[in-house]
Amino acid sequence: MAATVNVDGQISGEREARISVFDHGFLYGEGVYEVLRTYRQRPFLFEPHLSRLRVSAERIALPVPWTDAEILARVQATVEAAQVPQDAYIRLLLTRGVGDLLYDPAACPAPTTVIIVKPLVDSPVQIYEEGVQVVLVPVLRNHRQSVDPAIKSNNLLNNALAMQQAITRRGFEALMRNHRGELCECAQSNFFLVSKGVLRTPPLEAGLLAGITRAFVLELAAALGYAPREETLVEADLATADEMFLTSTTKEIVPVVRVDDVATGALTTIGNGRPGRITQALSAEFRRRAHADTRPAPVRA
Ligand code: PMP
Repeated sequence: MAATVNVDGQISGEREARISVFDHGFLYGEGVYEVLRTYRQRPFLFEPHLSRLRVSAERIALPVPWTDAEILARVQATVEAAQVPQDAYIRLLLTRGVGDLLYDPAACPAPTTVIIVKPLVDSPVQIYEEGVQVVLVPVLRNHRQSVDPAIKSNNLLNNALAMQQAITRRGFEALMRNHRGELCECAQSNFFLVSKGVLRTPPLEAGLLAGITRAFVLELAAALGYAPREETLVEADLATADEMFLTSTTKEIVPVVRVDDVATGALTTIGNGRPGRITQALSAEFRRRAHADTRPAPVRA
């Protein structure tokens, strides 16, 4: 794995990195995080990731006592120390910090910051060329009035339970429903459908993470003239969809060609069982823009 880790400003190798067992991130899962990647050594879409981190932190009443420039400087220092030959995976975590075994936030005087940088392992090219099978799992996505999926929380048990079911059935991802039975998102990605030329994805109100890639794809789809819609999607929409794809920071746009429903055992083929034309057009445009991102390197503190 060969990761480089920055714990509260101290950069070390993965074996030396330590946090306290009294950190409430460990004890209670009280923390928030972001996953970013670099293209040509530059963290991609840094600003939206940072603002989502602040939104997540605010939602759990976690103060972020650093400016954007300070956080950026720590990330850059860790990326530089990691000397990753190609592109890097960056995981940025903020936890409640170390304190007594109490839920009172006052028990923890200072948050802990952890940055993990490791080489980004490209997904196998077949997933993009042939598409993947996802598993529609019985595990429901958290209710928005419980642990709101909009909070990118270190408490990932809901996602892990869903992925366990997908892995058992050799699926690439776990597609989840919300408490109303509507499709909302996957355990590690957002999803889109194309039906009769119309590009659709569930609205934030369905209870999902506001994916940075989702937003970027909505923007570039509009620029390409696809007029994307955020609207409620249900299982019946899978059967009539011509195309389906997943979006995430590390995997970009992944075509989905089959959905395996755990509850019924039914296997639904999406469209003609091959990655669709609009999916491929969006994927090509996404990569063109990501690789062409020539803005200056992020500011340093
Ligand atoms: N939904 C969930 C539950 C996720 O974990 C992720 C990956 N972070 C996404 C969606 C995709 O978000 P992004 O495009 O910001 O990586």
